[in-house]
Amino acid sequence: MISRKMIGMTKNGSAIRAMFEEGKKMAEKFGAENVYDFSLGNPNIPAPEKVRQEIIDIARETDPMELHGYMSNAGYPQVRKAVAQSLNRRFGTSFSENNIIMTVGAAGGLNVILKTLLDPGDEVLVFSPYFLEYGNYVANFDGILKAVPALPEDGFQPSGKALSEAITPKTKALILNNPNNPTGVIYPEDKIRELADVLEEKQRELGTSIYIISDEPYRELAYDGAQVPYITKYYRNTIVGYSWSKSLSLPGERIGYLAIPDEADDSQLIIDAAVIANRILGFVNAPSLQQRLVAECLEEKTDVDAYDRNRKALYNGLTDCGFECVYPSGAFYLWVKAPDGDDGKFVTKAKEHNILFVGGASFACPGYVRIAYCVSNDMINRSMPAFKALAVEYGLNK
Ligand code: PLP
Repeated sequence: MISRKMIGMTKNGSAIRAMFEEGKKMAEKFGAENVYDFSLGNPNIPAPEKVRQEIIDIARETDPMELHGYMSNAGYPQVRKAVAQSLNRRFGTSFSENNIIMTVGAAGGLNVILKTLLDPGDEVLVFSPYFLEYGNYVANFDGILKAVPALPEDGFQPSGKALSEAITPKTKALILNNPNNPTGVIYPEDKIRELADVLEEKQRELGTSIYIISDEPYRELAYDGAQVPYITKYYRNTIVGYSWSKSLSLPGERIGYLAIPDEADDSQLIIDAAVIANRILGFVNAPSLQQRLVAECLEEKTDVDAYDRNRKALYNGLTDCGFECVYPSGAFYLWVKAPDGDDGKFVTKAKEHNILFVGGASFACPGYVRIAYCVSNDMINRSMPAFKALAVEYGLNK
């Protein structure tokens, strides 16, 4: 028999992954061009040409024993140094290689830091809607995830007051995801200051350390010049988790890092423990070739303009149909209100028009759906008649 914990996790499964699999089956049945799959955050823009070239060059030019061998569990020192210097240049931080641990994507990094920080029963806060995998990651280490709703009437911006009310002596961390999956909202500087003030005050009051775990796979995907604040500047006890899955379109390659600043409480203890967590969770180290690759591609950028075109096409198209959408400032997701408030029904009805997107229940926020627009612009255009037909079914835009 499998463990009771895994029975629970298996039951909950992942609606997003299930939808992705269903999309592939539907494409076989109806023809790929007749299925509009907006389910998964799998970037459709190819990795920059330099990425491909560097993979070839590294494989050709590097001593294979060295390239494919084990290294420090934290990653290659020269790679961590290059990452630290790039962050210092861009965000005015003062990281050294000691502060950087290379990880198996953001998911790997989150598991490493949660294993490092959590005792059973410790609480981790997150603003909902949120990436539902956080619940599994926290449960992996017998922590308790507590959702603090970010409300539609606040434009899905988090509230300092609600955060303050949710904190208890057991609160170990707040996971902050900016730009946000699934809403596409960016938390601006004044919001970060508000949250940081609340956390500072609560730490003083309770005599505890409460860490922000800043989950930043979408950092570079910001539109109209929106700034994504670098959280360590506003709050000392911040640990940054980053990934190149979205920023360089490398989600299958599994590469990211944790940045743990010297200013954080128990910084060196956390760094040492996180390196061990990376090892004993079975990652051992981040993939060697991918480490070498990202160190050569720190200045490379994905085609944000292409996502921006998709963002506008989808937002304009859907609002013209009569759907109510949050205008996204970042990431590549459109957050849309279910016309009658029933997101499950909205997903089912959309499927009848060969449109696939994910219900808000998968983000702890029923009543909405998430439409991932990291797809071809052509598919967005082709999907519009189907969206129009769906809108008519709901009595919108008559
Ligand atoms: N965090 C958020 C908010 C995400 O949306 C994702 C992936 O979609 C991840 C973490 C995991 O990313 P990675 O592929 O780097 O593990």
